[in-house]
Amino acid sequence: MDFELTGEQLQFRKVLRSFFEQHASIEEMARLEEAHEFPSTIYSQMAEIGLTGLVIPEEYGGNPADSVTLCLAVEEISRAGATLLMAWIPTVTCSRIILDHGTDDQRLRILPGVVAGTTRMAVTLTEPEAGSDLTHLKTSARRDGDEWVINGQKVFITGADTADYLVTLVRTADRSEPGRGLTMVLVPRKAAGVSTQPLRKLAGQGTHTCEVFFDEVRVPASETIGEVGDGLRVMFQLLDHERITCAAQSVGVAAGALDLALTYARERRQFDVPIIEHQSIAHLIADMAIDVEMARLFTWRAAWRLDQGLPASLDASMAKVAASEASTRIVSNGMQVLGGYSYMVEYGMERYWRETKLNEIVAGTNQIQRSMIARQLGRSR
Ligand SMILES: Cc1cc2nc3c(=O)[nH]c(=O)nc-3n(C[C@H](O)[C@H](O)[C@H](O)COP(=O)(O)OP(=O)(O)OC[C@H]3O[C@@H](n4cnc5c(N)ncnc54)[C@H](O)[C@@H]3O)c2cc1C
Repeated sequence: MDFELTGEQLQFRKVLRSFFEQHASIEEMARLEEAHEFPSTIYSQMAEIGLTGLVIPEEYGGNPADSVTLCLAVEEISRAGATLLMAWIPTVTCSRIILDHGTDDQRLRILPGVVAGTTRMAVTLTEPEAGSDLTHLKTSARRDGDEWVINGQKVFITGADTADYLVTLVRTADRSEPGRGLTMVLVPRKAAGVSTQPLRKLAGQGTHTCEVFFDEVRVPASETIGEVGDGLRVMFQLLDHERITCAAQSVGVAAGALDLALTYARERRQFDVPIIEHQSIAHLIADMAIDVEMARLFTWRAAWRLDQGLPASLDASMAKVAASEASTRIVSNGMQVLGGYSYMVEYGMERYWRETKLNEIVAGTNQIQRSMIARQLGRSR
């Protein structure tokens, strides 16, 4: 077994680390959050260095990366701040959907703009009464000639108000067919009848998470993504990527928190010594480092299995749970290491503390992951 990154991957990570140190300081990320301002400038710069083309083939102008390399990118962006991660990740997810299930016209129309950083998308699935269980979603699309007419409401849609397109899961058949009645449709955010309302939230406030309302929204039927009735299958095919990405997000937050804590513990003196010389602080730091390595190894192994074409669902779910829960522990320890300063915005730790919990909730909650892990283990016996 080879646990080493390639020279190219190490260089990629180094370039990203210094890019985000330069463009996404703790102060700048705090400013964007306080102003609730989308990180437009940094997003354009991310596009310039190729970060918006990592899942897009060269024929559309992209620079596709393997899953392990993608994890490195996710880690560095997440470490820089949830505002940036939330600005970037929905478009990555939607790009995968369009690549795998979209029409040639959709790919040609949308993907080059994604790579250039000028086209963004939002994953538009969750509804007030349909979170973990999307089969109960109500947003409907009825056919009228060559058009879909969409009505309904979505909630928690990240980047919806700044997206060009909403990749939207709608009900196209009645509930007697819960699994087969859902279809994915590409909806221009500026289509008549679409409106968005940002929600007040805990973290990543530069990129808004929104309610989205559809009121008699007309979209050409040619904007269907995949087959009519195949919406859930389209989503399920993404799941391994989603979970591994979520695990890598957790590793980014966790690694960032460890570095902040380590630097602080070496510099801060109490009782005439740097606090890292107090055994209880040293042990907190050691626990954080162990958890970061555990989370990272779990994550990279799942990504590596994807790259090898091996089954990765079980590994992806395990990595998602292990990394997100480790990250929550790590950041909590980091807060303790920084003492009262952990509460102060300019130290950066409070931001990680606000950001970490989300990874236990999104991409399938950890409860849902545990049920899936148990089901898969049951099947393999
Ligand atoms: C900041 C943020 C950004 C988001 N961005 C997006 C986005 O861009 N697009 C999008 O579509 N969605 C987005 N979401 C929604 C997210 O995917 C959902 O919150 C998530 O799927 C859980 O759904 P829910 O919140 O309705 O919780 P529920 O499904 O109502 O779950 C509530 C609790 O019950 C538990 N539970 C539910 N069912 C079971 C079960 N069968 N067994 C055991 N426990 C169960 C859950 O684990 C959880 O603890 C976002 C959410 C947040 C908070």
